[in-house]
Amino acid sequence: MNNHEKSSFNVIEIRKDFPILNQQVHGCPLIYFDNAATTQKPKAVIDIVNKLHTECNSNVHRGVHGLSVQMTEMYEIARTKIKNYLNAQSEKEIIFTAGATAAINLAAFSFGEAYIKEGDEIIVSEMEHHSNLIPWQIICQRKRAHLKMIPFDDNGELLLDEYERLITDKTKLVAVVHVSNSLGTINPIKKIVTVAHAKGIPVLVDGAQAIAHQKVDVQDLDCDFYAFSGHKIYGPTGTGILYGKERWLAEMPPYQSGGDMIDHVTFEKTTYNELPFKFEAGTPNYIGFIGLGAAIDYLTSLGLDAVESYERTLLDYATDKLNAVKGLKIYGNAKDKICNLSFSMDNIPSYDAGILLDNAGIAVRVGHHCTQPIWTHYGIEGTIRASLAPYNTMDEIDILGEQLQKIQGMF
Ligand code: PMP
Repeated sequence: MNNHEKSSFNVIEIRKDFPILNQQVHGCPLIYFDNAATTQKPKAVIDIVNKLHTECNSNVHRGVHGLSVQMTEMYEIARTKIKNYLNAQSEKEIIFTAGATAAINLAAFSFGEAYIKEGDEIIVSEMEHHSNLIPWQIICQRKRAHLKMIPFDDNGELLLDEYERLITDKTKLVAVVHVSNSLGTINPIKKIVTVAHAKGIPVLVDGAQAIAHQKVDVQDLDCDFYAFSGHKIYGPTGTGILYGKERWLAEMPPYQSGGDMIDHVTFEKTTYNELPFKFEAGTPNYIGFIGLGAAIDYLTSLGLDAVESYERTLLDYATDKLNAVKGLKIYGNAKDKICNLSFSMDNIPSYDAGILLDNAGIAVRVGHHCTQPIWTHYGIEGTIRASLAPYNTMDEIDILGEQLQKIQGMF
């Protein structure tokens, strides 16, 4: 164990909370560096999900019987927890979805229906995950609107002057990623929002990668929408959140329809439920959301400041280690960055490197990471990505460095 690990953060204790980490892959201890794809689950989350399935499964919002009432209460408590975590004003602003992708599709469809017409413009950035690009492309095609793009420089920082130049009186929305899953860049959301709001334009933020790594306060950011996935913040898969300011959500039409989102139904006409239920058709992943509440409690118990500072140390350490490997190039060197490291190695296909690392027990991701326009910018197909979490250690980074040196020697 490194001295730093001993002094600043009790990573060894934290690792004990994640049972999956204690296993061998190809005869080597698992080193899990694929946290941007999904994070592992602490025992607190696994236990509550098991317990609810075992002891009190029952559909929410529909029953008068004890199990249903109990489940509904826990489910709505989870909503309040998430509201508090984001510092939203009200539970009405917290819509439960299946994930960040589902949240952004909801926003794109529903906002698009209400506010986008022919000739309008939507601005996204060059570093969007496909989930925050394609829904806007589709809405622009449907409405004959135009999609515009904020470029980034070679360090992976958005060109804010260009952004300001893109805004016109036709701009109806800015949709931008908070933290890039491929470059690690933390974008200056407050600045982006201030510029847009000066012209009365709302901003949607894709927070899928930000949410687990830093405090997110939607009132402080003043964004109009904020989307994220539960599975990237130590919660269950199939859970996600769309935060939206009530003034927008109240006017926007439903996205999906069916049970729970209605107030009164006749063959002629349906009136809709109040917020947030207007946007929550069908049986939700209620156990998953209670699990997400437990994940947020867990992360809060670690202390987000402590997590952020430990992850900063990991990032600096990993950056030095990777830069020491001959022929290795890191993509994404923004001043503000989280511990997602994308890199390529001279003459070594990323896929081959990924397989060789897996043979050594190291889980990384290779490919385009659902951000093809980023790699078009750099003129490459994709990268190897190591994305770190608070349960990762500097010893693990040392092993990654050693294995990369070894692979370098092999080719
Ligand atoms: N946005 C970003 C920045 C992401 O990293 C991801 C997941 N890789 C998503 C959106 C989509 O998340 P999900 O697949 O959980 O819906």
